[in-house]
Amino acid sequence: MEGPLQTGSFRWMKSINKSTILNIIRFHGPISRVEIAKMTKLTPPTVTNIVGELIESGIVLEQKRGESTGGRKPILLTINQSAFQVIGVYVSAHRVRGAVCNLNGRVVEESERPIPPNPTAEQFLQTVQEVIQRLATGIQQRQIPLLGIGVGMHGLVDPDQGISLFAPNLALSDIPLRAVLEERFDVPVTVENDVRAMALAESWFGQGRSLADFICVHVGSGIGAGIFSAGSLVHGPSFTAGEVGHTMIDAAGPRCSCGNTGCLEAFASGPAMERRAQEKLRHGSHSLLREQLQGEWEKLSGSDLTVAAQAGDDFAQKILADTGRYLGIGLANLVNLLNPRRIILNGGVFAAGDYVLDSLKKTVHERSLTLPAADVTIVVSDLGKRAGTIGASTLVLKKMFQPQ
Ligand SMILES: [Zn+2]
Repeated sequence: MEGPLQTGSFRWMKSINKSTILNIIRFHGPISRVEIAKMTKLTPPTVTNIVGELIESGIVLEQKRGESTGGRKPILLTINQSAFQVIGVYVSAHRVRGAVCNLNGRVVEESERPIPPNPTAEQFLQTVQEVIQRLATGIQQRQIPLLGIGVGMHGLVDPDQGISLFAPNLALSDIPLRAVLEERFDVPVTVENDVRAMALAESWFGQGRSLADFICVHVGSGIGAGIFSAGSLVHGPSFTAGEVGHTMIDAAGPRCSCGNTGCLEAFASGPAMERRAQEKLRHGSHSLLREQLQGEWEKLSGSDLTVAAQAGDDFAQKILADTGRYLGIGLANLVNLLNPRRIILNGGVFAAGDYVLDSLKKTVHERSLTLPAADVTIVVSDLGKRAGTIGASTLVLKKMFQPQ
């Protein structure tokens, strides 16, 4: 039987100078004490003292000696990436996915469970705790201190209180995630909207690195955006900033789950794309998928469309291109409003690659104003399915490295 779960403390990060130095080592390491003093404008004795404390805590390591032009080679400092671990939990429409990450965002262990259909708040919280418990047991066995738990939760989240205000896919509201998980696991817990957590992951470990203005757009059961503006995540006073799925792209369009008509989500979410394809097949559209589904149109999935498109099926290619066009209209609105440097796309539909991206990019460029359209690059996330759990883990890392 392993010992009790070890936990790290944020207390030693209370000093601004300490977190500044730690962040410089994270960004610029391996780096010498002299260079840190130059970059921070702190006195060399202050740097030496603080670095000493960081080394003692186990988070910073002295590495091999660096290059020197004559004289003694300086000792270089790096982050000890495996000194602590964090747990990131991503709650999507139907599943809870969890991962243990090192300080550099590398995934060490994963676990996931389906959420029972129409769950009560207790059943839902039980599922989340089971995923975390399983990962915490692994951390315990490895005897590495756990720094904290981050949760990226779909729907409306109050990150200040750590509450899931409304989770539309679960039909649950006011779930006190932070209070319940801190009570159970006795580590700091941070809760954030799932797509905002993904945007944070892109900012630290993905294609948003070193960009102050970018947008991460996730297309799944819903469509949401995590907006980075001037280097910070945008929340809005009601925490609803980024709800691009509920911007209208056609006033005469189908009804959306929010009660409005013609929202982007009602055209281009995963389920909306599947419904469009099913409807057309039901009405006799010619496709390779007819033989495969044998009249059971409701079994058609987004990945069936990708496979059929790759096999040369015109029908599937058209459905995907239409989806790209709808998404392009929504993204053009974001480009005109926010002038981002980059849009980073995430979600199952992008496995279809150019079948969806060609029309998406073309539409963004046709429908955005010339200047911002020329400045924006559109890419697919290379964090893939792990963006949610890595993002949730990054919530904890951000608290440690950038506490202000
Ligand atoms: Zn809507």
